[in-house]
Amino acid sequence: MRKQIFYLWIPALFVAPLCLTACGGKGPLATEETSAVAAAPVLTPQQTAPAPDKTGGFDGQRAFQHVSDLVAIGPRTAGTDGNHRTQDYLIGQLKGFGCPVDPEAFHTPTPIGDMDMRNILVKIPGTSPGIVLFLTHYDTKRLPNFVGADDGGSSTGVMLELARLLCPRKNALTVWIAFLDGEEAFNLEWKDPDNTYGSRELAARMALSGDLSRTKAVILVDMIGSRDLRIKRDTNSTSWLTDLVWSTASRLGYGNIFVSSETSVEDDHVPFLRRSVPAVDIIDLEIPYWHTLQDTLDKLSPNSLAVVGHVLMAVLPQLEQKFARPSAATRP
Ligand SMILES: [Zn+2]
Repeated sequence: MRKQIFYLWIPALFVAPLCLTACGGKGPLATEETSAVAAAPVLTPQQTAPAPDKTGGFDGQRAFQHVSDLVAIGPRTAGTDGNHRTQDYLIGQLKGFGCPVDPEAFHTPTPIGDMDMRNILVKIPGTSPGIVLFLTHYDTKRLPNFVGADDGGSSTGVMLELARLLCPRKNALTVWIAFLDGEEAFNLEWKDPDNTYGSRELAARMALSGDLSRTKAVILVDMIGSRDLRIKRDTNSTSWLTDLVWSTASRLGYGNIFVSSETSVEDDHVPFLRRSVPAVDIIDLEIPYWHTLQDTLDKLSPNSLAVVGHVLMAVLPQLEQKFARPSAATRP
């Protein structure tokens, strides 16, 4: 994604010094504490997610384990073996949760040649036809040895955990979760149309099928794993939906993370905004390691994943209240 350059680098100058104390590796603070999942790294107390019953059932530790598994695959750039192994991982996990999984392949020109890509869709039937569409991208920036723990990893871990919670439920609204391919530009520079391949494809397909006309809200999550998470309101996003997410976060006590200052982001929500579908981007782009080899697992906190997951779990019932048809039992 791209942000206005002025906003991007000036704050980064102020954020970077914080990293000296807050973003280091495990070091002497590491404890003997083991996580619930055998392969998880040893975590410091600060990195441990709260118990799921404190975050709406969302398990930040499980989400973090997914990110760890994704990082272990290595670079996951569209069209590469790592990308294809990531697709296998996503499909395997989602099927394990009992989710209906629908891989949607497409073919697209890119600056490095024509390419096959795949969006992985989960479509959970609800009691009402209206759709809430959650988005993440699972591809990583085309840079040598770039593993995208935060950029591509963190939001994908959150969406996998969200799928585990929502797939077995009969939700009042139809819930779709899309794991998008090809968000990143192949060239270093973000220049249209070399970006957001997956979301442009999905929006176009949903417009053709008629599904877009029953889509009530698109909620994009991207880069939300930082230990120093601070999410500004994106001015490109739809106001009422942004208000709903930010007021929910404030009510849950996360006003220090979902802050009121504003920024402007181009990301996978734009193809939906262009088609007049309400959409919001939940993203912290002011991270000192963005698109560098320092975007590694040690920069992330399971607690940050849990905070965002908690907010998503709390936003959904409000959208259902707003858009779901009343059930027969409650109809006058
Ligand atoms: Zn990126």
